[in-house]
Amino acid sequence: MNHALYQKYSRQMLFQPLGPDGQQRLARASAVLVGCGAIGAATANLLVRAGIGSLRIIDRDFVEPSNLQRQMLFDEADAQEALPKALAAERKLKSINSDVAVEGLVADLNPGNAEELLSKFPLILDGTDNFESRFLVNDFAVKFGVPWIYCAAVSSYGLTMAIRPGQTACLACLVETGADTGLDETCDTVGVLGSIVSLVASLQVTEAIKLLAGRPQALSGRLVSCDVWNGRFQSVVPQRNPECRVCARQEFSHLSGAAQPHITMCGRDSVQIHERSRILDLKVLESRLAPTVSEVRQNGFLLRFRVPPYEMTVFADGRAILKGTKDPAVARSFYAKYIGA
Ligand SMILES: [Zn+2]
Repeated sequence: MNHALYQKYSRQMLFQPLGPDGQQRLARASAVLVGCGAIGAATANLLVRAGIGSLRIIDRDFVEPSNLQRQMLFDEADAQEALPKALAAERKLKSINSDVAVEGLVADLNPGNAEELLSKFPLILDGTDNFESRFLVNDFAVKFGVPWIYCAAVSSYGLTMAIRPGQTACLACLVETGADTGLDETCDTVGVLGSIVSLVASLQVTEAIKLLAGRPQALSGRLVSCDVWNGRFQSVVPQRNPECRVCARQEFSHLSGAAQPHITMCGRDSVQIHERSRILDLKVLESRLAPTVSEVRQNGFLLRFRVPPYEMTVFADGRAILKGTKDPAVARSFYAKYIGA
């Protein structure tokens, strides 16, 4: 290791369980992070500063002012420009540690692209905000024997566990045996504190570093839950379910289920319209919409316009989010009217 790198990571290498050997292994390691909201941004921040070799970040969303309270990689300029989170994160992380290969991908992880986006990484990290995505990741991880770390937070409560297929319970074991995932509410309905996000992300990153630095014997194997408001911490070693759909019966219905609905709920008052591989020219679309809708603008990655009481955001891959309704039929007809059937 050259002198500059030695200086950069000296405090971490002085930590005896890692040492220079652990640091060098970490520098050769890679991981993929699914989702770059609050937990994702905190996770990426810590891992890139710690000196992981490379990190792929997959996120489907863009930065909004309400994110800044807890999504610590983003700033007001990112929200003003409505930058995709994957790209805003990549830019910020490269300025934090230029030795790390950071790759931001603006994409919506789904059964059709999971293998393409997740393969070749020895570890998958959880920055998602929904169980649909987590079950998809769990299916992929168990099927291909890749460790992944479950991490979630809502309100003042959070949970995390490193899942190692064949060695620990998987997410389906936890959920189907009725372990408390505590996360039926969402951040869009009951809110979330930035401090619980930082806490569970820190736990996730520590388990990640143990795996990536070649210290698997240090993994806790525990499902840790904590509440920063009442100060309670708990941890248990979840048992594997011998009847588990995923890790026992090997039924990967979320991964094979190309049955992803065309339209899904997305937050409290929004729906997402999934369009696979429908490449849009946003400049052309902007000039076509400008005479008929208000406040249309695009930044090369996404285009946004308002038709009160609705606001639609369209991505270059054809995917769109319609704010102002929960009704799939409204979303479908709005999309057909303004973007095309
Ligand atoms: Zn299982």
